[in-house]
Amino acid sequence: MLQTAYLVLRDTGRRPIEVASLRLKCLETRKGENTLLWDNVKKRRYGRKLPITRETADVIRTWQGRRRQIEVPSRSRKYLFPSITDRSGFAHMEASSLANSMREWVAAIPVLLSDELDEHGARMPFDRTLIFPYALRHAYAQRHADAGIPVDVLKELMDHRSIVTTMSYYQVSLKRKREAITTMRRHTIDRSGRPAPFTSTTDYEAQSVAVPFGNCREPSNVKAGGKACAIRFQCAGCGFYRPDPSYMPAIEQHVNDLRADLETAKAMDADDFVVRNLTDQITAFTTVASIIRDRLGSLPEDEREEIAEASAVLRKVRATRDHTLLPLTVIRKGTPNAG
Ligand code: SF4
Repeated sequence: MLQTAYLVLRDTGRRPIEVASLRLKCLETRKGENTLLWDNVKKRRYGRKLPITRETADVIRTWQGRRRQIEVPSRSRKYLFPSITDRSGFAHMEASSLANSMREWVAAIPVLLSDELDEHGARMPFDRTLIFPYALRHAYAQRHADAGIPVDVLKELMDHRSIVTTMSYYQVSLKRKREAITTMRRHTIDRSGRPAPFTSTTDYEAQSVAVPFGNCREPSNVKAGGKACAIRFQCAGCGFYRPDPSYMPAIEQHVNDLRADLETAKAMDADDFVVRNLTDQITAFTTVASIIRDRLGSLPEDEREEIAEASAVLRKVRATRDHTLLPLTVIRKGTPNAG
């Protein structure tokens, strides 16, 4: 039961009390898509739905099967994680029990190392006090922000009322952003896979704009902030296209989407030119992706790690691009010079 609760905490980012109080029937599966039914206890918003992966759904299903076979206190019957006895303060597992169990488990792990190195180059011990149930909610949000999930999508996933709360997971200092660009500008290629590095961070920032599957150097589109592509983002066939490794997830997702479109087009008996266009785009984007993958594979491990870190930073920056918050100052009524 505790293993299941831990995996649900880790994979869904719900608060400890929200996991502890999940109903026995907390899964919904439609057309192969799995949804977790949960209650936002903190904000009293009930009957929420969260898309989850098949792996997480399977973990819950396995526990549901075992849970139905064991006897539980009568008032715990409708909960996924029952309390141990009828005398417990809650009808379901208490969030504090979950925290205590996790603390005991973490304390029992013989060796736990962090990525930080000491002065001799050896990995330092991981600070075990940083591992507790609520930290898994932060980790879930940070993973999604690092993967470049748009901030408004993550806001929905976290069930935040205000986007300002979600924005905290996307904070990147100017210094980190410039370091990421310094790394990435050297790994840009053109649509044929030839190296096309930007000459400086300023060149990267001022002479190109991020479009869905890479950078674009077409001057009028750069000026319009990436919103004025004359050929509808068929980037892999465009001379102004400059992809780099930070766009790999977006390129791979686009290839999957194009493949699905191609199947639909064929099923609709679409004209040859539609099928040809989709097929050519799939070939072109697949080639770009495999060239980037090959180039990454030929680099030493430390350089690959540096690129992975820079990619996460740049994806995070892009994910908030349309949600730049202005540092507004509230001027109280009656204040001299108030507008
Ligand atoms: S198709 Fe060309 S002009 Fe349009 S966004 Fe892509 S790279 Fe820029």
